[in-house]
Amino acid sequence: MKAEDALENIVPAQVFRADVVTWAKRIGVEPKEIRIRLMKNKWASCSSNGRLTFNSELLHEPAAFRREAIVHELLHLKIPNHNKLFKSLMRAYLAEGICSNAN
Ligand SMILES: [Zn+2]
Repeated sequence: MKAEDALENIVPAQVFRADVVTWAKRIGVEPKEIRIRLMKNKWASCSSNGRLTFNSELLHEPAAFRREAIVHELLHLKIPNHNKLFKSLMRAYLAEGICSNAN
């Protein structure tokens, strides 16, 4: 963990949602719906009809982790699996470039 991540920077759901909308525009996708709720076993999910659900626990995670979860799920609106293109797009959008979401 980096020093600047040591402090949890908790954000309101509205701020998180605004981040998702900003990233959606940057990536060029239009989620039908963005939901934020407590999820048991994953950080986010993407339904085949373009509805995204994010785990509300993400609001308590460091900004870099939130960003990765957001970009990962939004990219699934373009690419449904984790193929080479998906991973190279993740790298392109994230400085860190690590796709650690194992779903
Ligand atoms: Zn995924």
